[in-house]
Amino acid sequence: MKKTIRDLDIKNKRVIIRCDLNVPIKDGEILDDNRIRESLETINYALDNDAKVIILSHLGRVKTEEDKKGKSLLPVAKRLSELLNKEVKFIKDTRSEFLTNEVNNMKSKDIILVENTRYEDVNGSLESKNNEELAKYWASLGEVFINDAFGTLHRAHASNVGIASILPSAVGFLVEKELIMLDSCVNIEDRPFVVIMGGAKVHDKINIIDSLIKKADYLIVGGGIANTFLKAKGYDLKKSLVDIESIDYCNDLLNKYSDKIILPVDGYSSSEYMDNLEVCYNELNNIKDNQMILDIGPKSIEKFKPILEKAKLVFLNGPLGVSEFKNFEYGTKELLNILNEIDSKIVIGGGDSAAAAIRFGYKNSFDHISTGGGASLELIEGKELPGIKVIENK
Ligand code: ADP
Ligand code: MG
Repeated sequence: MKKTIRDLDIKNKRVIIRCDLNVPIKDGEILDDNRIRESLETINYALDNDAKVIILSHLGRVKTEEDKKGKSLLPVAKRLSELLNKEVKFIKDTRSEFLTNEVNNMKSKDIILVENTRYEDVNGSLESKNNEELAKYWASLGEVFINDAFGTLHRAHASNVGIASILPSAVGFLVEKELIMLDSCVNIEDRPFVVIMGGAKVHDKINIIDSLIKKADYLIVGGGIANTFLKAKGYDLKKSLVDIESIDYCNDLLNKYSDKIILPVDGYSSSEYMDNLEVCYNELNNIKDNQMILDIGPKSIEKFKPILEKAKLVFLNGPLGVSEFKNFEYGTKELLNILNEIDSKIVIGGGDSAAAAIRFGYKNSFDHISTGGGASLELIEGKELPGIKVIENK
């Protein structure tokens, strides 16, 4: 296990916390402050231990001066200050004498939020390419480094890997929880282990399918992923999204793991990838010529249900249909409803499936909804993430 913030002496020290405060902002308004709230536990722990807290975070992608518009962390500083009920000093630079002086003048329990780390990407992607000078400068601001930004652990950037290779480092509470919960889907102790995979393309998920299908007792599929498996079985899915390149791959899997792979048997469709057209119900062998399947149907849900009711561990990645469209949210919603009722450990990873679970009201219903799409999938695949690798073991 990696060191956590509990394992380091932070008393009265300048502690740099790399948070993921990458929240959606429109016209200066924060649309969803979940990520800020999720960062509070580690920040509060540092404050309770009399640390001087220096927070770094990225916000969106910034490659040009133009991109900086709307990407300042200033609104985040204001919200963070409200949530902590305490002054958060926002420094509008990412690197300057002013910033250095402000940090040197900090007292215990002071908080500074530094401007968006990705501003350093404008001239040569210094943050994203883990520039050594930049990492050294940021490291010089603190005495201890805590990485609590789960969503960027799969990237080697200056504000995570760079600083961690210079200062004594540990992970924060948010990262610790992600690592423990996602590990339960890597080193399986609870069975039956049921993996549910949806989303658009098989091709994007081959690595994760490969690593999970060996471990899982069942792989339930939906979405565009299911279409490709069904096409491989010979069904004519008309205009449905099928990942042509992956048909042979799906065929191999169907041959090797025929007992494990559970396919849908019906679905809802429309003539275009749109939310406002007529919706048709289809059994798989009589889909009309002008239709595309955009969701699974009730018979599929009935087929999946008994398998889920036996499960002791479930990992969900990818919605079972185009759940962002009202007309095609049925399958994903029904699935989440079943998951909410069964007696099983449930872990959700993947940006769109996590967003759907939260949107449909299940934010606190499951054992874990990962905050990082890419990072959670790479962890499940069994990869060692660069942001974790540099942190010392206990
Ligand atoms: P996650 O982010 O949870 O890993 P993905 O990014 O792989 O999920 O997939 C989400 C996308 O898959 C959504 O945009 C959704 O519209 C699309 N999708 C799901 N089912 C279908 C379908 N039957 N046809 C086309 N697109 C689909
Ligand atoms: Mg996605």
